Amino acid sequence: QKQIKLVKRPVGTPVEEDFEFSQVPIGEPAEGEVLVRTNYISVDPYLRGRMNDVKSYVPPFELNSVISSGVVAQVVESKSPHFKENDIVTGMLGWQEYSVAKESVIRKIDTTLAPASAYLSVLGMTGLTAYFGLLDIGQPKDGETVVVSGAAGAVGSTVGQIAKIKGAHVVGIAGSDEKINYLIDELGFDAAINYKTEDVKTALYKACPNGIDVYYENVGGPIGDAVLPLLNKFARIPVCGAISAYNNEKADIGRRVQGYLIKTSALMKGFTVGDYAPRFKEGTEALAGWVQEGKLQYEETITDGFDHTIDAFLDLFKGANLGKAIVKVSEI
Ligand code: NDP
Repeated sequence: QKQIKLVKRPVGTPVEEDFEFSQVPIGEPAEGEVLVRTNYISVDPYLRGRMNDVKSYVPPFELNSVISSGVVAQVVESKSPHFKENDIVTGMLGWQEYSVAKESVIRKIDTTLAPASAYLSVLGMTGLTAYFGLLDIGQPKDGETVVVSGAAGAVGSTVGQIAKIKGAHVVGIAGSDEKINYLIDELGFDAAINYKTEDVKTALYKACPNGIDVYYENVGGPIGDAVLPLLNKFARIPVCGAISAYNNEKADIGRRVQGYLIKTSALMKGFTVGDYAPRFKEGTEALAGWVQEGKLQYEETITDGFDHTIDAFLDLFKGANLGKAIVKVSEI
């Protein structure tokens, strides 16, 4: 079987040479373990941070070891009483075609509720990130204005739709006209701004006549800066991500935020989805409910074939994905 290792710490934007495919034997499960065949791999912007040798909320990947992320897989052989052959499971597993997993690191998923890949998107980590960041920190109220960046991605597209469910005026910021049309025509956003072709600050003034009550931050950089002058009194800013800076070799210095926060009494709060682990069940149930009621749509950009996993990861930084970026490794 094939697996993918990190062999160099990327400098700036990662390149193919930072990774290595190798061929290794398929492992044998011991007591309390299962052998699974990988069906889907989640590629995520946060993995870029784990490729640096710096302390963060998740430890860095070790050089010359297999990269891991969210995976959906099917049980091939079980030596655990909790799993049987053909069960579909999810967990943080390696970028390889087969894995031997301890029973404690995987959980069964219900594919009658949603297709298996949805457990890496709307019902998985990115859906939960949108749900808790927006509702716990953003707390949008009926009639308020919510702006979200990275709006056509996995987290952003879910944030905007939940904000609509809560009755907000929703404005998305994304990087192509195709994405802008998708946000307005398919997801019902009130307005959307193409940050590559429009002046974001001017476009925001137009799209947010009543100012901004919630800014859900996914990208940082000049887009995050453009939002600050429009904040309303008691605005909330869930700081979820800053993808525009992940490949920077030097610190990203932008606008100073203090003055804006003081004069608006705004709340700017960082978080990681793991902060909400005790409430994941509540989040997953709410998200699944909205999906079933047809109130929450989700898109997945599925790249076919394990050999294209690195391409799918690198594509995140080029904005190639609409909705969640996922690699399909094998048929269920
Ligand atoms: P997305 O599906 O949004 O994919 C990344 C998108 O980011 C791209 O499609 C691209 O869209 C946009 N992008 C890439 N480079 C830039 C840039 N320089 N400036 C502006 N936009 C850019 O990924 P996710 O939904 O998985 O993640 C969104 C954000 O949320 C990330 O910052 C991620 O790190 C963060 N995150 C945080 C979590 C937490 O626990 N705090 C958990 C999960 C995600 P476009 O075409 O619009 O440029």
